[in-house]
Amino acid sequence: MNAINFGYTINAGRGIDLDRNDLGPAHEIAAEMPDFAACIACGGCTATCTAGNLTQFNFRMVHTLVRRGEYTGAWREMNKCMLCGKCRLVCPRGINTRGVVRLIKRKLGDY
Ligand code: SF4
Ligand code: SF4
Repeated sequence: MNAINFGYTINAGRGIDLDRNDLGPAHEIAAEMPDFAACIACGGCTATCTAGNLTQFNFRMVHTLVRRGEYTGAWREMNKCMLCGKCRLVCPRGINTRGVVRLIKRKLGDY
């Protein structure tokens, strides 16, 4: 059955080609911090994020994009993080989220 075409979309259509994305930096980050790959994208971090309450910062989104090899703007976005640590307290996978922020900033400054 075809989906109903309402004539508009909320988000622009986009494809993700993991075979074309450069996953080198993402693999480097995961090698240095295996936590990075354990995320299940539940969104608990973003729901509780202090910076997210004040800005459009979305930790889960940036984390997910970097894991896919989409790095544009990641460094700039991670600069919004205040390193308060609330996200780490709620993460069901026990991910060192502040460590992820610092690692992404260290590795992806050129993007
Ligand atoms: S709370 Fe943890 S598992 Fe959930 S999206 Fe955030 S980093 Fe990933
Ligand atoms: S450490 Fe950063 S990402 Fe985590 S809740 Fe605080 S401001 Fe948000």
